[in-house]
Amino acid sequence: MKFIFDFDDVLFYNTKQLKEHMYICLEKVGVSRNIVEPYYTEARKKEFSLKNLISSLVARENIKQINIKDICEEIMNECKNFVNKELLEVIKKIGKENCFLISYGQEKFQQEKIKRTSVASLFSKIIIVQESKKEAVEKICARYKDEEVIFIDDKAHHFKDLDFKKYPNLKTILYDEQGLKKLFSILPQ
Ligand SMILES: [Mg+2]
Repeated sequence: MKFIFDFDDVLFYNTKQLKEHMYICLEKVGVSRNIVEPYYTEARKKEFSLKNLISSLVARENIKQINIKDICEEIMNECKNFVNKELLEVIKKIGKENCFLISYGQEKFQQEKIKRTSVASLFSKIIIVQESKKEAVEKICARYKDEEVIFIDDKAHHFKDLDFKKYPNLKTILYDEQGLKKLFSILPQ
């Protein structure tokens, strides 16, 4: 059995913890959440990176008290504490040879988060995509056609274009509040 994990909001608490920590850090230097929020929403529409978000915020709001490099470091420095530790333990047990990571987003920013969380050594392969995950997922299904491939993601839209007819070995788990429970239920005993 092979497992493909998503990073943001599956293995890494991006929305619940990193984003909240970012708001707190900015509030501490006098930039309130309601100023940052529209910039965040806008930045999310494109390939998101923290540096781009802070840079446009500082430039357009004419903020003088922020050093972009320093605040980015302060925010990113906490990444190591935002890992889904329960899931991490499961991944360790499943074993590197059976685990793949496919993450969506800006290459450099995703790489930085992955590096800071020190999870890279737990995966056979790490793939970062800027568009659909389809190609990367199906390639793994084709390579391991005699095994079940379980693709775990918190966003159902990543499942939409997958070819389940061509790859009958592919199964998906929507990683919601019940995500870990769902994963446990299909793990070989
Ligand atoms: Mg995700």
